Amino acid sequence: MTTDNSFQVSVLGLGAMGGALAGALLKAGNGTTVWNRSPEKAEDLAAQGAEAAATAGDAVRAGRLVIVCLLDHASVREVLEPLTGDLAGRTLVNVTTTTPAQAREMADWAARAGIAYLDGGIMAVPQMIGHPGASVLYSGSADAFDRYRSLLELWGAATYFGEDPGLASLYDLALLAGMYVMFAGFMHGAAMVAPAGMTARRFAAMAAPWLTAMTGALDGLAAVVDGGDYTVEGQQSLEFSGLGDLLDASADQGISTEVVAMVQRLIRRQIDAGHGEEGFSRIIESIRQPV
Ligand code: NDP
Repeated sequence: MTTDNSFQVSVLGLGAMGGALAGALLKAGNGTTVWNRSPEKAEDLAAQGAEAAATAGDAVRAGRLVIVCLLDHASVREVLEPLTGDLAGRTLVNVTTTTPAQAREMADWAARAGIAYLDGGIMAVPQMIGHPGASVLYSGSADAFDRYRSLLELWGAATYFGEDPGLASLYDLALLAGMYVMFAGFMHGAAMVAPAGMTARRFAAMAAPWLTAMTGALDGLAAVVDGGDYTVEGQQSLEFSGLGDLLDASADQGISTEVVAMVQRLIRRQIDAGHGEEGFSRIIESIRQPV
């Protein structure tokens, strides 16, 4: 630690995200050592005052706190495993996107090696790091989170979910599931209106406020799921949500019906099981029980 509020930290991986993370640490006055497989990506940060390490080992040895932000789990293992001895006694924060199982595997390896391990899931794009709206989910070592919380908050809101190192990744990927399916739904709509002469950008201007308004329904849908009673009054029923018109109109526009047909299949399984008059939230039962 160099002052009360700053740390000596090393960042491995200076891709779009790792570079943004390192930049935020540096800007806040932390002594920052950086390393990247392709060394030219360290040049900008070095010009701003970072120490560019020649090897990943040199970077690890320079900081008590080591941040790793590489492409994937395989690249993290490839870089870190030869450095197990150097990492012993240090704190490792892995914000590389991995599965929960991979996060737990890293935590097991770290525990055997005497490394304090915190896993992170970044809910932001690089341009958002250090700005409002950025959020990073953490799980794993509570001590590591508490000790470095002020530093982690330089990137965005930092939320800790518990000692199970897989939880941050689980929540990260669950949120991404919602995002990707929403984006696919938007693309479906854009493809539908294109033959009528509407550009995707004009459609986006219509879709953004609509989808934003619809997120207001999430809490109500979730309350029904948590309550476990899909018959409560006031819900849109599964039969009402058949999506037949939507599929027919899509086919009439000459586009694929895959995106909407996927949702219709989830609805159909519940209707076929005799639940047609129950609420739309019930499609979660189709998702919970894979066919
Ligand atoms: P980039 O593709 O920009 O960078 C990938 C980084 O991984 C580079 O530093 C690259 O080094 C390094 N790398 C890849 N393979 C190896 C290897 N075998 N050995 C050593 N280094 C390797 O990706 P991002 O920076 O955007 O993403 C990094 C992580 O952050 C990913 O897990 C991603 O899912 C996550 N993330 C990214 C977000 C984003 O919007 N970008 C959002 C949320 C999470 P080199 O430069 O030499 O190729």
